[in-house]
Amino acid sequence: MADDSSRAGVRYISPDIIAYVDHMHAPHDDALQSAFAAPDRAGMPTIMVSPSEGRFLELLLKLVGVARIVEVGTLAGYSAIRMARALPPDGKIWTVEADASHAEVAMRNVAVAGLEKQIEVCRGKAFDVLPTLQRHGPFDAVFLDADKEHYDGYAEWALRNLRPGGLLLGDNAFYSGKLLGEGPGAVAMRRFHELLRDHCDSVCIPTPDGLALGIKRP
Ligand code: SAH
Ligand code: MG
Repeated sequence: MADDSSRAGVRYISPDIIAYVDHMHAPHDDALQSAFAAPDRAGMPTIMVSPSEGRFLELLLKLVGVARIVEVGTLAGYSAIRMARALPPDGKIWTVEADASHAEVAMRNVAVAGLEKQIEVCRGKAFDVLPTLQRHGPFDAVFLDADKEHYDGYAEWALRNLRPGGLLLGDNAFYSGKLLGEGPGAVAMRRFHELLRDHCDSVCIPTPDGLALGIKRP
């Protein structure tokens, strides 16, 4: 299956080139830099989306014309701040974070960015918080980026709460390279891919850990 064309990207990508295109197309202003640097500063895992991935999300959401977004997995707020840049003035992101200290850091970064009105950090485990957000829907986009073992359940919630034509996004869709493995997490992630295929026009972009996206069919 792996012919030359599918390996082409692997041959040409390099850290220097990534740094160049990040700098060229996805530079940080103070607010983005503060959120991007926060995990390292605060001893949190540095697992936020990359600058170019974040910029890609922003442009994609702008294209879709989003006003209401749900994010599962906030960390320090970097991807939420990126996505908020795609919103109209009355648009909003509800971003769910289970770890209280991560939520605290995120709220500080959201304040630095002056986005308190547009980004609401919702503390708690996604399966507890998502049902409380339902009343704000239907949503234009849902971005999954929390515990990968529950992407199938989160996707089911998203498909019930997205408008037709809305966007379902999932980061780390290669499951840190374990997508084709045996464990329950891999099975859940493959089920996420099946849900996308069955209910959306879908694709999985080969970013370093896979970014899956689907447009919900009517
Ligand atoms: N989207 C962020 C990165 C998120 S990292 C960015 O790109 O900037 C994943 C986050 O999900 C972590 O902060 C982790 O604490 C959180 N998380 C893990 N399990 C969760 C759950 N069940 N519900 C909500 N958040 C969860
Ligand atoms: Mg991620």
